[in-house]
Amino acid sequence: MRSGLTGLLGGGLMLLALNQMSADEKTAEIIIPGPQALRVHQQAILFDGHNDLPWELRSQGVSSLNAVDLQKIHPSMHTDIPRLTEGGVNAQFWSVYVPADTMDTGDALLQTLQQIELVQAMVRKYPQTFAMADTADDVEQIISTGRIASMMGVEGGHCIENEISNIARLHSLGCRYMTLTHSRSLDWADSATDEQPLGGLSEFGEQVIHEMNRTGLLVDLSHVSPATMKHALRITKAPVIFSHSSARAICDHPRNVPDEVLPLVRENGGVIMVNFFSAFIVPTEQLRTDPQKRGTIHDVVDHIDYLAKKTGVDHVGIGSDYDGVPRLPEQLESVATYPRITHLLLQRGYSPEDIHKILGGNVLRALRTAEQIAASMQQDQ
Ligand SMILES: [Zn+2]
Repeated sequence: MRSGLTGLLGGGLMLLALNQMSADEKTAEIIIPGPQALRVHQQAILFDGHNDLPWELRSQGVSSLNAVDLQKIHPSMHTDIPRLTEGGVNAQFWSVYVPADTMDTGDALLQTLQQIELVQAMVRKYPQTFAMADTADDVEQIISTGRIASMMGVEGGHCIENEISNIARLHSLGCRYMTLTHSRSLDWADSATDEQPLGGLSEFGEQVIHEMNRTGLLVDLSHVSPATMKHALRITKAPVIFSHSSARAICDHPRNVPDEVLPLVRENGGVIMVNFFSAFIVPTEQLRTDPQKRGTIHDVVDHIDYLAKKTGVDHVGIGSDYDGVPRLPEQLESVATYPRITHLLLQRGYSPEDIHKILGGNVLRALRTAEQIAASMQQDQ
């Protein structure tokens, strides 16, 4: 048994979902996954690309984990152990995000190390629930023991403080991807949400990609400018991921992936892991009339469907951004709700095999390929 899906979305959660809806919002029919959806979901490996629980805990002033019992439900957060179990989560990239402004204060790496320690402490505190995974094989082995395989993702290249050897250091501490930038451009990579003086990557930025390929740290292209996406895709030897980004053709936000990049992701064998944040998923026209619109689970499934049709079903994943965003679509309010996505994908005619790829098979494949490429690059040295 990978996870207990019984009692999925009991009355309490549904009430919570209903209470959060504003009166003028169209209330979509509440989705209750049927037996087939639950079976397909349970047989899948659900591997989410981005969860900000470590930052959520840090912003509550928690560093020892003594103040928050993750075995209890915390309605003010999106993530806790009971709801991870209910949602059938098998593997997670925990974000060890620290703000881009740490590049001004000079403590980006120090704060990242503190976040890494927090994730390691969480895994140690709940050994029945979590285990750190080093490799794709590890992920599968840990899942077979009924636990959640845990890897970390560094969010923003500011964390290496322009020192190339920090890439191997972060990898050896359990990080398995690095988002090249966060909200601000670096002197070696342009961000999607800042000025873009480089038009992609600098020469040092190219060295960063090479070192990430060599160590097996996945290149994450969420948050970067389209020119940086293309530049990285041109030179990377390993598959890339977008750990938490959606389709720009549906929601024209600079954080999303534009159509022109999709064929490059397919050629590269990469994976775009769809973000659930309302501001990235509600269709552009609707956001124009109401920028605070939450959207619904159907909008998120539209993004998955669009990317699967346009890029190929082998190149789509899930990167919720739970506990990192202030607003979520109706019926995707917490980590307990993932089985509803499986239900809707079945309804839209996706086969169980394709759903398994989307939920986690694709990112696991990208990780495994990146490991093989790293091994061969190390051999060639
Ligand atoms: Zn982010």
